[in-house]
Amino acid sequence: MTVNRGSQIREGKAKILYQTDRPGTIIQYFKDDATAFNALKKGQIKDKGILNNAISCWMFKHLEKSGVKTHFLERLSDREMLVKKLEIIPVEVVIRNRATGSILKRLGLAKGRPFQPPLIEYFYKSDELSDPLIGETHIAYFKWATDEQLAFVRAQAFKVNDCLCRVCDEVGLELIDFKLEFGLDEKDEVLLGDEFTPDGCRLWDKKTGEPMDKDRFRQDLGGVEEAYREVYRRLESFFGQKT
Ligand code: UDP
Repeated sequence: MTVNRGSQIREGKAKILYQTDRPGTIIQYFKDDATAFNALKKGQIKDKGILNNAISCWMFKHLEKSGVKTHFLERLSDREMLVKKLEIIPVEVVIRNRATGSILKRLGLAKGRPFQPPLIEYFYKSDELSDPLIGETHIAYFKWATDEQLAFVRAQAFKVNDCLCRVCDEVGLELIDFKLEFGLDEKDEVLLGDEFTPDGCRLWDKKTGEPMDKDRFRQDLGGVEEAYREVYRRLESFFGQKT
């Protein structure tokens, strides 16, 4: 069954969302635009949209096979992914396997300190407030999710971590941390939404420890396109070139 792209719902920092003529679905269109530090730093990463769409499709398909419920339906084109329409829970769920990024200064930790078991954190999705750190009590108090939904989100997030740590390890990468978003579908089922790409996770090369993700853009390390392409290339060989 073909799907036709309808009107734009909204344009985000890295994706544009479109209506479709298939009920209950939307299209995520991946752009080359890159932002960091709450959009204070802006740029473009050549072909990022194409690479991220493929990477995200592979990861979501793999997660589905591993028993994680996601919004993924199909890859429609180079830059377009068809997904179930969700009402997004306004909470960013972060899993950390090692300390880096925002937690370093916040808690005075050494970069690279392992978290075993992994650490889960929640941030309130708000550009105006720069996504503040919150606790489970805030999620319950402001009714962003029920206790039952939150327990499911937590379990799914750890399952995503187990599953994708294994994939990354197979291709010579260490999954350091990542951000997930969840939402409710038409039946009020909690599904993993958004994307899984080097924009929203940290991947270190297992041999060299070099970052292979958006930190290269954030920190002006150079070789940004090359890093995204290398992650794509490694996953392509792992997933057998199937998107
Ligand atoms: N992250 C994200 N979007 C955000 C904030 C964080 O995708 O708005 C990802 C980020 O790429 C990293 C993880 O979540 O993989 C943890 O980010 P952190 O809290 O360390 O914040 P950052 O240092 O990126 O500001």
